[in-house]
Amino acid sequence: MAAKKRRFLPDLSAEQIADRQLEGLKWTVGHAFNGSPFYRARLGQAGLEPGDVRTLDDLARLPFTNTEDLRDGYPLPLLSVPEKDVVRIHGSSGTTGKRKILSYTQKDIEVWKDMFARCYELAGLSVLDRVQICVGYGLWTAGAGFQLGCERFGAMAVPVGPGLLDIQLQMLTDLETTCLCSTASMALLLGDEVLKNGLRDRIRLKRVIFGAEAHTPKMRRQFEEALGVEASFDIAGMTELYGPGTGLDCEARQGIHYWADLFILEIVDPVTLEPVAPGELGEMVVTSLCKEASPLIRYRTHDLTRLIPGECACGLRMPRHDRIQGRSDDMFVFRGVNIYPGQVAAVIEKFAELSSEYQIQLSRRGGLDFMAVRVERKKDAAMDASALARAVSEEIRGQILVRSQVDIVQPGGLPRSFAKSKRVQDDRNQD
Ligand code: ZN
Repeated sequence: MAAKKRRFLPDLSAEQIADRQLEGLKWTVGHAFNGSPFYRARLGQAGLEPGDVRTLDDLARLPFTNTEDLRDGYPLPLLSVPEKDVVRIHGSSGTTGKRKILSYTQKDIEVWKDMFARCYELAGLSVLDRVQICVGYGLWTAGAGFQLGCERFGAMAVPVGPGLLDIQLQMLTDLETTCLCSTASMALLLGDEVLKNGLRDRIRLKRVIFGAEAHTPKMRRQFEEALGVEASFDIAGMTELYGPGTGLDCEARQGIHYWADLFILEIVDPVTLEPVAPGELGEMVVTSLCKEASPLIRYRTHDLTRLIPGECACGLRMPRHDRIQGRSDDMFVFRGVNIYPGQVAAVIEKFAELSSEYQIQLSRRGGLDFMAVRVERKKDAAMDASALARAVSEEIRGQILVRSQVDIVQPGGLPRSFAKSKRVQDDRNQD
């Protein structure tokens, strides 16, 4: 297939990507070693110097970095340039203790802009699109990233921020925005509101770019239908690696293309830290290739995904990873079995009678672990609730090999939130 002419997306062969990766890896290790006391010490402990990186295989010899390293270096962890070169910081929400704060040089901002513009390009936008950005502004990377990328790409940014339902609906109808950028939960909620207020004929949305939380194909279909859009695109990203925009799924919907000329992605077993077999689920580990202020060397993201082998039907040669299927930290051990909430979501996905909302509650009864799963029935579900509960429970037993008590609740019976939905409640160690 002839490569499409693109403004932002480079058309690189596997060899060209590998060349850039090796060059970027050598540069990053040298830059971090020379600019950051933290990295100099960390590499020194592993007996490594910049000259030791000669091939891409040498990546496996480099030590990992982890969340604690960001916390220990608070407030400016991993800083590898003089402070005079830092033009901005962003932070992530720290659920426990200190936030993660990352620094940016002007060049880092330029790279982020171009990286994000690739996402709008791959999603098929034009400079005439009107882009409603419903994610958090301020310290967070989300709003800043969507905004920077939109302006770099040349479309019209409509920066609303999260929540503010009335204003969202007003912009959707008055400005006739064509692209919605939000979390999957927010898109679902807006879809509900559009239908509830009878606004379907007054909105002109064509595309949704969504991200920042685990979702299922069912959630995606649900908001696509409610909003009447042509397509939706799952965007990847994290504060540590510039922010949102590190990759996007294409119209072929067979995984997220990621920008392998800007960072290296490894998938490892979260317990042993050894690489998993190609195509297996594991934790994503990233190494930046040109990040100046806070470079990342084998940074453990704790996000779970898998690499997708082979070439994509869309013709873009950038490699792909699967959608993020949860966090390695969300993994819980139930009666000796490692379980990720995404596995339960995958079971629920199979039932047309159920919505995509679910909650898992773990408790201890008479010394034994007990798992209750609450799922929401759809309005038009034909199957009787107790038969449905039995069927779901049997499917969980068949797929995940554990027993659970399944409760079917009424449509809308589970709590919704703007932000990431909390799926697992673990009460096993409460007295
Ligand atoms: Zn593709």
